[in-house]
Amino acid sequence: MSDWKPRTRAVHSGIRRSQYNEVSEAIFLTQGFVYDSAEAAEARFIDAGPDEFIYARYGNPTVRMFEDRIAALEGAEDAFATASGMAAVNGALTSMLKTGDHVVSARALFGSCLYILEEVLTRYGVEVTFVDGTDLDQWGAAIRPDTKAVFFESISNPTLEVVDIKAISDLAHMVGATVIVDNVFATPVFSRAFELGADVVVYSATKHIDGQGRALGGVILGTQDFIRKTVEPYMKHTGGSLSPFTAWMLLKGLETIDLRVRAQAQSAATLAAKLEGNDKLSRVLYPHLSSHPQFDLAKAQMQAGGTVLSIDVKGGQAAAFKVLNALKIFTISNNLGDAKSIVTHPTTTTHQRLPDDQKQHLGITPGLIRISVGLEDIDDLLKDINHALDVI
Ligand SMILES: *Cc1c(COP(=O)(O)O)cnc(C)c1O
Repeated sequence: MSDWKPRTRAVHSGIRRSQYNEVSEAIFLTQGFVYDSAEAAEARFIDAGPDEFIYARYGNPTVRMFEDRIAALEGAEDAFATASGMAAVNGALTSMLKTGDHVVSARALFGSCLYILEEVLTRYGVEVTFVDGTDLDQWGAAIRPDTKAVFFESISNPTLEVVDIKAISDLAHMVGATVIVDNVFATPVFSRAFELGADVVVYSATKHIDGQGRALGGVILGTQDFIRKTVEPYMKHTGGSLSPFTAWMLLKGLETIDLRVRAQAQSAATLAAKLEGNDKLSRVLYPHLSSHPQFDLAKAQMQAGGTVLSIDVKGGQAAAFKVLNALKIFTISNNLGDAKSIVTHPTTTTHQRLPDDQKQHLGITPGLIRISVGLEDIDDLLKDINHALDVI
């Protein structure tokens, strides 16, 4: 099994068959499990074996299959599945931090991640230093001998800056800090985060892992020691566990993730290349475009450029809204990684609450549109977007 390639692992790893030997993974829609005797119950509470379950908040066979499969795919020792991506981010950080600890974080973060680092952790006496994620000098200056963890998104949203996992891991490991990477935009298909030095990787499974817009989910990946001794006690007692039904959907998502994400990334790369130079646009941002400021790093760190690109429409918000409203295939929403292509206007939606000076600093301009490329025919997508750009 350990010599299986990722695509094989994504289909077969983690399977636990019941006495019926079903082909497709069973959904164990049960909150709990029956013990053969009072003594057996006592023994299980003292030390549950790998195939022994107690209560679905602690673990469930369908959920465990998902955890084992994503861990195998990512090359991690173990994983804990969570009710959403945010439960994963919160669980990874809060389970390991205490009052007085110091954390260094990139500033360009998904809004809810920023809330946890800026509002929640600091309320409990954790000191957080924010840096520009792409500036290694700032990381070097901010990481101190007592820094306990560093946190960043490996590709930032929505401007698709690439953060150097290896260089930051090297800096963090010099002081023994834990490197926690939110790896959503890199996807489990193109990720090399553990290989590059990450200690903990978190995903919102809502994005590419489900990939069909059906469910919320998340996962924390790391060493068995970190997952079972630090994360699991925190998660199982605070209630952020994944439901077995959702775990089953995510297992099915993993079976097709490689094909889906590669096809989506190929279309995203084609769209980016065809849109670059369009006179209605001032910028096209995509990590594997040679014009991307960190093209070399993006090539080294990711097998492909991902499924998301951003474009900056000349004429600001009014022009961007015209484009959004003229699109027929791309739907206006805020998910990403979905089979359906989705467009988002970050300035007025996902990043609405950021102060103007920070938006400007992060390059979140009024003309910026984030495009998550789906599985539709690339010719139709190109026609749709070219038609929408023609209206301005
Ligand atoms: C969506 C997202 C999250 C949060 O995930 P949910 O499943 O919505 O809770 C966290 N980080 C990044 C980068 C995301 O894109």
